[in-house]
Amino acid sequence: MQLYNTLSAKEREKLIEEAGKDRLTISFYQYAHIGNPKILRNHLFIAWNEMEVLGRIYVAHEGINAQLSVPAENFEIFKAHLDSITFLENVRLNIAIEQDNKSFLKLKVKVREKIVADGLNDNTFDVTNKGIHVGAEQFNELIEDPDTVLVDMRNHYESEIGHFKNAITPDVDTFRDSLDIIEADLAEHKEDKKLVMYCTGGIRCEKASAYYKHKGFKNVYQLEGGIIEYTRQVKANNLENKFLGKNFVFDHRRGERISDDIISNCHQCGKPCDTHVNCANEACHLLFIQCEECAKAMDNCCSTECQEIHALPYEEQKKLRKGKEVSNKIFKKGRSPVLKYKN
Ligand SMILES: [Zn+2]
Ligand SMILES: [Zn+2]
Repeated sequence: MQLYNTLSAKEREKLIEEAGKDRLTISFYQYAHIGNPKILRNHLFIAWNEMEVLGRIYVAHEGINAQLSVPAENFEIFKAHLDSITFLENVRLNIAIEQDNKSFLKLKVKVREKIVADGLNDNTFDVTNKGIHVGAEQFNELIEDPDTVLVDMRNHYESEIGHFKNAITPDVDTFRDSLDIIEADLAEHKEDKKLVMYCTGGIRCEKASAYYKHKGFKNVYQLEGGIIEYTRQVKANNLENKFLGKNFVFDHRRGERISDDIISNCHQCGKPCDTHVNCANEACHLLFIQCEECAKAMDNCCSTECQEIHALPYEEQKKLRKGKEVSNKIFKKGRSPVLKYKN
């Protein structure tokens, strides 16, 4: 049985284009006790590969976290398969608002220690003692309450391009960092304030809310299904949208527009812009915000140094990289002194 991708991203891209069929970008997560993540991993890979599902999936003893691209015509089969797995029956699926047939080009199911990199030790507190889940309508009311403190549980590059009105947006690189900052800020108000939190799809708040309850916060709320589900409910029920700008997403699209507001700036010229790109110099790959004019002027690079390297023949570039530690991750932290207008 083949348990790995046989196609390169390029070959897959071509196939998707030729097929011309719609795909859905879907995400879901579930905390559960999984005895043997490796068996689940193989089971999912075989089944989903057959359905031409693509995406990035983490499986761990503590559960599953999945970001997927599913052919629209296979959605029912896919859903039936999920329902056949006891702990995934009727799991809430977050379906992306803006579709992109190429949001993922490979199927990667990985066994990990944790399904979210948060650095929290599970044994220190009860993760099932979560905050109160609220839907979009109740969330809208809650965040207008003067006793509410609204916290964005995402990282700086995510909240930079979009967040809820009046939200505290910690300037952090990981979700772990914001926990302590917020706790210290609100140390005096553990009992009288309402701590309301949100993230992209809800998964980070699952643990953060339990963590804050463990730390003595009495009134902890979390936005059910995160910004993705909020937006769906706002549209479906004609509610007022209180989210400004774009929702950062972890696939090829990088962000989906929720409101017309552009709340961030091009990191190179400072003009209003909320388009994330990765530096075209493969050895750099910095994630940053760049407007079209700057992209042109800088050959899609973050700095003149990267521009020069990017202009070299590919073989030369490879030689330069040799022996150097290269971070080629698409979501490199998005911080660099070369970015003049990074907040
Ligand atoms: Zn610019
Ligand atoms: Zn660069």
